[in-house]
Amino acid sequence: MEKLYLGLKPQRIFCIGRNYVAHAEELKNAVPSSPIIFMKPVSSIVPAGQVIHHPVQGELHQEAEIVILIGKAGRVDTEEQAGEFIEGIGLGLDLTLRDVQKDLSGQGLPWERAKAFDDSAPLGGFIAYNGHVNFSDLTFSCHVNGKLRQRGDSQLMIFSIPQLLKAISQSWRLLPGDLIYTGTPAGVGPLVVGDKISVSADWLGQFEWKVV
Ligand code: ZN
Repeated sequence: MEKLYLGLKPQRIFCIGRNYVAHAEELKNAVPSSPIIFMKPVSSIVPAGQVIHHPVQGELHQEAEIVILIGKAGRVDTEEQAGEFIEGIGLGLDLTLRDVQKDLSGQGLPWERAKAFDDSAPLGGFIAYNGHVNFSDLTFSCHVNGKLRQRGDSQLMIFSIPQLLKAISQSWRLLPGDLIYTGTPAGVGPLVVGDKISVSADWLGQFEWKVV
């Protein structure tokens, strides 16, 4: 795990909701005017190669996302400062119990049971951020049983990665080992026991999990 996460121990998991227009539309949600931020416990991480335990009840959906690994403590006050805080860029899955989410958010209730359950944060590896990565030119894909399910492009994010770090910093001082799941593109769908799911990118490689 140490090597996968560039020697950092995951500290907190911040997630961003509805950061791609096409995904907001597929769930019939409004496009937000400021980033929607929620959290998952670090205990929900599943390293690549391990199994995802299906919660059995509920409609389990995959959401493939770019994940940012923070390497420095402090607040990001301007978008230009964001790069100083980024240690690595990787991919992960924000697993969601879609029916529970609809039920809870429909009632205006907290949605932890839909988003922050055990095994809800599969996490692949990272590439070190070298200061030259273009945050708005990161493409990635998600396959289920070898079939393409999602294709993402950070250029289509509603809030860019530097904007997300700045927004999170308004409420939390960033800490080394913090993770930021940056939102999912369109194409979310159900996972069933036996499925093999992978996330991949030219700039990173491929990471796979099996649902049991
Ligand atoms: Zn998500």
